[in-house]
Amino acid sequence: GQKVVLITGCSSGIGLRMAVMLAKDEKQRYHVIATMRDLKRKDKLVEAAGDAYGKSLSLAVLDVCTDESVKQCIDGIKDRHVDVLINNAGIGLVGPVESISIAEMKSVFETNFFGVIRMIKEVMPDMKKRKGGHIIVVSSVMGLQGVVFNDVYAASKFAMEGFCECLAVQLLKFNVTMSMIEPGPVHTEFESKMIQDVRQKEFPGADADTVNYFKNVYLPSSVDIFETLGQTPDDIARCTKKVIEQGSSARFRNLTNPLYTPIVALKYADETGGLSVHAFYHMLFNLGPLMHVSMKAMQYLTCGCLRSRTISPN
Ligand code: NAD
Repeated sequence: GQKVVLITGCSSGIGLRMAVMLAKDEKQRYHVIATMRDLKRKDKLVEAAGDAYGKSLSLAVLDVCTDESVKQCIDGIKDRHVDVLINNAGIGLVGPVESISIAEMKSVFETNFFGVIRMIKEVMPDMKKRKGGHIIVVSSVMGLQGVVFNDVYAASKFAMEGFCECLAVQLLKFNVTMSMIEPGPVHTEFESKMIQDVRQKEFPGADADTVNYFKNVYLPSSVDIFETLGQTPDDIARCTKKVIEQGSSARFRNLTNPLYTPIVALKYADETGGLSVHAFYHMLFNLGPLMHVSMKAMQYLTCGCLRSRTISPN
């Protein structure tokens, strides 16, 4: 029969494209439960799903930040049976730490960390009982390597990676597979929300030098990185579909962008962390807008031999 796939955060971006791609699977292997906080935002998804809507794709309300919402959604599924859980919902946060309140930081963890855990706690016991299932978490390259001015976002993704690394071992005993998807930059509302947010914001509490490094050094190079290295939500959806198809032989970590493998390799090449910290320092402050060139050069100089570590969208 069809596998039941539940995806969080499907009103836009990666979640929307995953829902559509899986629902339109040529072999019709999936029934997708595409969830979102507010069904008023369903139009884009419904339009993109076309004929699949109401057949291989159904909608449900789910806010990953509320216990009741999560429980209600899972209780509403026949036999509470979910074969594949895709934790996609997430929010970003950039800026100088001095200007971000603890409450704002907590809300990032509430969604990116506790939101995922809430889902896993609701679905995992049934998977363990059935001795089968696949839990997928949309993490980020920033779950493996910190990036300047993304302190809290990276921390929330690191937390998730640590949590899942622990759980993956236990779940293996129950024939439940755990996979992380680690995209680099992806063109979605995530990016536009961030840029818009930053334009509106002032940065109370941060000194002029820090604000200057953020606005005039980090932001332009970040925009440039998105433009030159960014993947599409479809790329990430294709990678994720492959990971689902690999089933119990899927890898735990799945970087989607080969241009980021050298960066991650640097970290593991020097366990003191010195190499990564200094490489990032030079890329940001000495190369700035040429950062993407250095990323491409690194890929070129390693002859693409680290590429095999990524799951390619093609
Ligand atoms: P997006 O903003 O388009 O999508 C995120 C979705 O999550 C939105 O539809 C939003 O409404 C939903 N969401 C937020 N809070 C929620 C909640 N409490 N309950 C349910 N849904 C909620 O951005 P995206 O790029 O598609 O992000 C999807 C995932 O990909 C996130 O986990 C993000 O961290 C990750 N990611 C994104 C990028 C990128 O560059 N865009 C890179 C790496 C990882």
